[in-house]
Amino acid sequence: MDGVALAARIRAELKGDVEELGHVGLATVLVGADPASEIYIRLKHKASEEAGIEAIDHRLPAATPEDELVELVEELNEDDSVDGILVQTPLPEQIDEERIMRAIDPIKDVDGLHPFSAGQLYLGRQTLVPATPLGVMHLLEEYRIPIAGQRAVVVGRSPLVGKPLALLLLQANATVTICHSRTDDLARHTLAADILVAAVGLPGLVTADMVKQGSTVVDVGITRTEAGIRGDVDADVADVAAYLTPVPGGVGPLTIAALLGNAVRAARYRRGTLAFPRI
Ligand code: NAP
Repeated sequence: MDGVALAARIRAELKGDVEELGHVGLATVLVGADPASEIYIRLKHKASEEAGIEAIDHRLPAATPEDELVELVEELNEDDSVDGILVQTPLPEQIDEERIMRAIDPIKDVDGLHPFSAGQLYLGRQTLVPATPLGVMHLLEEYRIPIAGQRAVVVGRSPLVGKPLALLLLQANATVTICHSRTDDLARHTLAADILVAAVGLPGLVTADMVKQGSTVVDVGITRTEAGIRGDVDADVADVAAYLTPVPGGVGPLTIAALLGNAVRAARYRRGTLAFPRI
């Protein structure tokens, strides 16, 4: 499944939406200089530019106190030119990530990590959903992978990827199993999956003998190794699965496209052209 081509198409479509809206502003906040985070921010800015979204870059030193970051978030909440706020994680250890996510106005929560957004997703009322799970759903839709009635197995249960993806698959009427580090006999579960998603960060975790013939396998994992970027899924899974996402070039580009989609959605909420369910 080619994430690069689909992501380019989504960005092109979003450009039309942005033109219609007049202006969409996405504020990004990077605290410190984590090299992987720097790359992600750069990619998000480049993609924003391509979609006509104004990326507003905020950078703070690694030693920034938590209160100062909260203050910046509160300013961005009030700033009318900002439709979406993204605080890049991981944050330095003196900063409580949850407090920062809670400080973001839910109407601008393009990462979907505010408890309000998470609660809406739990209730099946879709508002702003984390971008990676949303990107995975875009891929499944693009390749017309049947979901309703199918067995989906999600390996990984983080609030950023595994858990919200399991909820989206459930909403789409899959029968969902969530596996994690304490799962006994992982292969017993993965072998039953019509749709298998690996979101762990352990290269080689999913091998061909763990995959059902003809199934769809989505590899969310990204691990930087000496041999380059690796996913969680072995390459020879391609011999067993009917569909497989490559790493890189699979879920990654869709994550960024879905984030921009969230920025456009947030802009619609703020202009009242899309109803936002207030708390
Ligand atoms: P995370 O917060 O570290 O969560 C990893 C999950 O994997 C946890 O739920 C953990 O279980 C589970 N796990 C660990 N070892 C396991 C094992 N041996 N068997 C089964 N499950 C195991 O990571 P994340 O933020 O969800 O990200 C997951 C991966 O996706 C990472 O490689 C990350 O870089 C990548 N990622 C990619 C994109 C993209 O755009 N493609 C976006 C975000 C993240 P416990 O809960 O029991 O600890």
